[in-house]
Amino acid sequence: MLKLLIIEDSTMMQNIIKHVAGIELDCMFDIAATQGEAERLISCNDYYLALADLHLPDAPNGEIVDLLRRSGIATIVLTASLDEQKRQKMLEKGVLDYIFKENKDSYFHALKLANQIHYNRKVTVLLADDSTMLRQHIRKQLEKMLFKVIEVVNGIDALHAINHNADIGLLITDFNMPKMDGIELIRNIRKTRPRESFPIIGLSSSNDPTLSAQFIKNGANDFLVTPFIHEEFQWRILKTMEEIKLIQKITDAANQDYLTKLHNRRYFFSVAKQLYRQVTADQPSLTVALIDIDYFKKINDNYGHDSGDAILIQISGLLKHTFRDFTVARYGGEEFIVIFNNSTMQFCTELLEVFGEKVAQTKFKTPDATLSITVSSGIASLNGNETLTNLIKKADLALYAAKHQGRNRVVTAESLDGEAESVQPSKGLK
Ligand code: GH3
Ligand code: MG
Ligand code: MG
Repeated sequence: MLKLLIIEDSTMMQNIIKHVAGIELDCMFDIAATQGEAERLISCNDYYLALADLHLPDAPNGEIVDLLRRSGIATIVLTASLDEQKRQKMLEKGVLDYIFKENKDSYFHALKLANQIHYNRKVTVLLADDSTMLRQHIRKQLEKMLFKVIEVVNGIDALHAINHNADIGLLITDFNMPKMDGIELIRNIRKTRPRESFPIIGLSSSNDPTLSAQFIKNGANDFLVTPFIHEEFQWRILKTMEEIKLIQKITDAANQDYLTKLHNRRYFFSVAKQLYRQVTADQPSLTVALIDIDYFKKINDNYGHDSGDAILIQISGLLKHTFRDFTVARYGGEEFIVIFNNSTMQFCTELLEVFGEKVAQTKFKTPDATLSITVSSGIASLNGNETLTNLIKKADLALYAAKHQGRNRVVTAESLDGEAESVQPSKGLK
């Protein structure tokens, strides 16, 4: 497991860092108070990054930077002051960034940066530019930030790389390239990948000021004017990546059920509507199943709401696993919904039966007891031109019948025939 190494001799600062890291940091960390201690820790741990104080009792003149460089550990320097000469020297030594030690916020800032660098390790950046020199320069900067880098020399190759490598999480593109220029490349990418999910930074040279605007208008998230200084390059990239992560977080929160972490009803319908639209074209089958916990109210009544919650969380884990190839969501209360595409009714019914058996065999652990539960399921397949609402209604009628027939079973809408019309729908769709 890769960790962060913090090198700081002041006990007061160490305490602040421990406090801030507890709130902010996504990974494990060690603190060293001296260069000697840092050396010892480095010899027996894997660090992806170091936050280093330049003045240490046994290394008063920034010698720590050389040690970290020799050890191949990316370094951010924390300093009380830095003149232009010292800044240049640090950057020449390969230091990734420097942060001024002013107050507690400086550490929040440093640890946020440490998180981003940790995340960067999993991201591949595609660099599209026909200038070898610029590519080399940018690659060096990106690798300092621990990104993996792939280079291409024109828009066609860039498009091909993006379509075939799912690890690419950022594109940096020049405008002037043979075969396909940067703007056309961005337009092509944006046909399928919106600004909110795939970040693009355009490179425009300072002798064409209109390019930056063109980049943004055509879908780039940001632009960089070349030549740029190290700090601007780094912060524009970090800012863009942070924005995308934030949007992703908000989207996840909007689509997720808070308690069970399953998809919520809103997300279910967005997927279901999309699958429904595809049905007539090339996918003839669409099946929906509603799954409801039997006598769940009794669990709340007898063991308390927390026990009920614990069961909902555990059963959601089983649902996620069993229906991992399909979309499963919390439909409401103790009721769940699955939508299957490209699957036969027989396959779906069997999978639901397997799920029912799994639930019946599981010992659910709650704060007060170990409990057994069962589930009932209703399942229906799309018939002719019926609506999605009708399909779900049929599944609900089948669920109602499963409850009526004694619970702990799967009932298909087909097996009800005309009967389906005479039974009342269960609570979910009234
Ligand atoms: P049936 O077998 O007919 O489905 O009976 P049931 O008791 O499972 O159904 P009923 O609809 O009567 O009760 C469902 C209960 O689920 C009532 C409600 O308080 C409880 N419930 C709904 N959402 C939550 C939740 O998030 N946490 C907990 N603990 N209980 C919940
Ligand atoms: Mg129930
Ligand atoms: Mg219910």
